Amino acid sequence: MDTILDGLNSAQRSAVTSSAPILQVLAPPGSGKTKTLTARVAYLLAHDGYQPQDVICCTFTIKASREMRERLAKLIGERLESRLILGTFHSICRRYLVKYGYLIGLKKGFGIADSDDTRSIIKRILKRLNSGMEVRAAQGRISRHKAHGLSPSEVAAQAKAEDQELVDIYRAYESALAASNLLDYDDLLLRCGDLLRQHPQCVSNVQAVLVDEFQDTNVIQYDLMNLFASKNRRITIVGDPDQSIYGFRSAEIQNLNRMQQRYANTSVVLLEDNYRSSASILNSAQEVIEQDTSRPAKKLQATHCYGTLPVLRKLPTANAEAQWLVLEIKRCAAMTGGLLRMSDFAVLLRTAALSTRIETAFGRAGIPYQMVGGRKFFDRAEVKILLNYLRVVSHTEHVDALLGIINTPSRRIGEETVKQLTSGAEKANIPLWTFIKDVIQGHRSTGKKLQSTTERGLCALVKLIEAAKEKLQGCNDASAPQVLLEFITERLSFQEWLTQEYPLDEDTRWANVKELMGQASEVAATCQDGDKEEDLPEIEGVKQQQTHAGEEALSQFLANVALATEMTKDEDEEGQQAQEKVTISTIHAAKGLEWPVVFVPAVYDGSIPHSRAEVVDEERRLLYVAMTRAQALLYLSLPLRQPRFGEGEDTTTSLTPFLSGKVTKTHFRPTGPRLQEKVVYGIADILRRVHPAAEAMFKALGSLPSTLDDQWTPDGEEIKDAVTKWDNSLAVNNRGEPYPKRQ
Ligand code: ATP
Ligand code: MG
Repeated sequence: MDTILDGLNSAQRSAVTSSAPILQVLAPPGSGKTKTLTARVAYLLAHDGYQPQDVICCTFTIKASREMRERLAKLIGERLESRLILGTFHSICRRYLVKYGYLIGLKKGFGIADSDDTRSIIKRILKRLNSGMEVRAAQGRISRHKAHGLSPSEVAAQAKAEDQELVDIYRAYESALAASNLLDYDDLLLRCGDLLRQHPQCVSNVQAVLVDEFQDTNVIQYDLMNLFASKNRRITIVGDPDQSIYGFRSAEIQNLNRMQQRYANTSVVLLEDNYRSSASILNSAQEVIEQDTSRPAKKLQATHCYGTLPVLRKLPTANAEAQWLVLEIKRCAAMTGGLLRMSDFAVLLRTAALSTRIETAFGRAGIPYQMVGGRKFFDRAEVKILLNYLRVVSHTEHVDALLGIINTPSRRIGEETVKQLTSGAEKANIPLWTFIKDVIQGHRSTGKKLQSTTERGLCALVKLIEAAKEKLQGCNDASAPQVLLEFITERLSFQEWLTQEYPLDEDTRWANVKELMGQASEVAATCQDGDKEEDLPEIEGVKQQQTHAGEEALSQFLANVALATEMTKDEDEEGQQAQEKVTISTIHAAKGLEWPVVFVPAVYDGSIPHSRAEVVDEERRLLYVAMTRAQALLYLSLPLRQPRFGEGEDTTTSLTPFLSGKVTKTHFRPTGPRLQEKVVYGIADILRRVHPAAEAMFKALGSLPSTLDDQWTPDGEEIKDAVTKWDNSLAVNNRGEPYPKRQ
């Protein structure tokens, strides 16, 4: 097991070992905030005698919590790690609501409305109310009110007359959620807040609360943090105001000051050394962020060599840009002789929509990639259908899930019938599912007699769902999601149905179904290995809701799907396959992560800053976050013509608004770097701590200086000699496969 303070500098150590009850670690990107936070968790357990089940640790994304769990498993061992209450705010809140939601009147077995559900609910409401409001606008406005903790009546109280329409929509939306026993993302946080305010004893065991990426918490999350910590008042947060990029989702950068005002004894530790990027990358990133004159001046201190200048490349068109990306990735991989692998490259985008062109180019060129930050996998029709079946089995009140499967595969239930059924259920004020059952049992009617084929269809649906529910009852362990998927696909003859419905690509679709089953079986496997989050600890005097293990596994599986907006099919693949892919991600989903080589395409005015963006400063910070993900090579690029609007308008680079025309040759080079030995050594030097190939190279180059800077100019013979040694040492990689030869 690693030792907790190993490999930390003195500022990081002082943060990790600080005895201050309220601690803020504020520091620029790549300075080891997340590393420090992780070490502090381990330190609190080892030195303050805290039990892991009494420590709450909040991360920003599911991916980040997984990484933190992995790092912690190494520091404290898997047994302790699995008992920590560690996850995103949303997932932690869900766990509390499952166990204690009954105390505030939550119905058992609630589901989570993901953004698709939310959209279709609002769509229905807008139609019913004859409203001309855009779905997205309504969705955004409701969510903003919720993020500020305002109920429909509170909005009504302060609303101007013209907002009355929104109040009506908001109210209808809330009742629709309640009728389906659903909580949306905001509700998970809000209701957990209600719970902890009314029943603080639920968190009376909590000794310490830690929060990563604090600059992106909203007011509700900030309240939750304080509620979690209400007993022992020990809080550690890490963050960087310069990386605040979720203002559009009501994140409040002011939370930092709020916290200092609320807790007079707040200690602040600053970290200054950057361990991620080369000095030249830091310089240009610094240049971008410094244009925001409202921020206090801060210096990023590089610990790495100068490296090579970032590239700013202009291409004639967006297609040419995608093509250039392909060539540049291939060139870097080949010229660094196996040092850089496909998984060392990332392409970071302002919006997910920009990915299509790049994905096509990668597909044609055979460059393997994984897409992060989209919901593509779970959005595929065949996957969605099966998930909807699971959601209905998990809780039958879920109207949208039920509507998604009522006639899929076809049961000859026409649209007209569906309309009659839904409006019948609404009038009777009971769930659609109950209404349908009543109708086929003859207790209720839609007003019109059903055709016998329709009736048979409805009976078949009810029978299938009831049978699946029974199956679930009989399966009191974590294998439930997998067992149910197998049961449902078999009963529906799903594979045959796919063949009929999609004769052209049935194979791919069936492969997706298999993949979904694989993910479900992983839930079961991890639970059996004991490598799973354990239940919340029992607290004396507060009863926990008893859960059926199978039901909880199913609901956990569905919650993971609903909350995993940044998770993709590939992310769960273990091993080499997933490792050998270029990452394509939105900048938002790349928060906290790092790659040796980063491309940021489409850096033109209108794309970033985005034409719809309200706050230019936030867009600048977004570019800053993207640039500071890079360790060794950074590429910004743009097409000279905008891809849309026919011929396309001319573009100007994002750097013009961000740098007020200050772009100079000292910050960027116009073409890709010449990957001569010196540059390759520079890359290897930066990567040596993390990259087995880089370490091997330096071993082979034993005689060379340990840190390289721009001044270092070995003579030709020295380089030749070193490269030969290096080539020989890297003839095979650590998996025993030959590296591609240098060209
Ligand atoms: P971000 O703001 O982007 O989230 P961060 O401040 O959380 O960045 P980390 O991700 O914790 O930074 O660390 C960045 C990189 O630097 C990681 O690869 C980490 O392992 C490395 N690192 C951090 N501290 C040290 C150190 N003292 N010595 C060597 N490497 C370090
Ligand atoms: Mg971090």
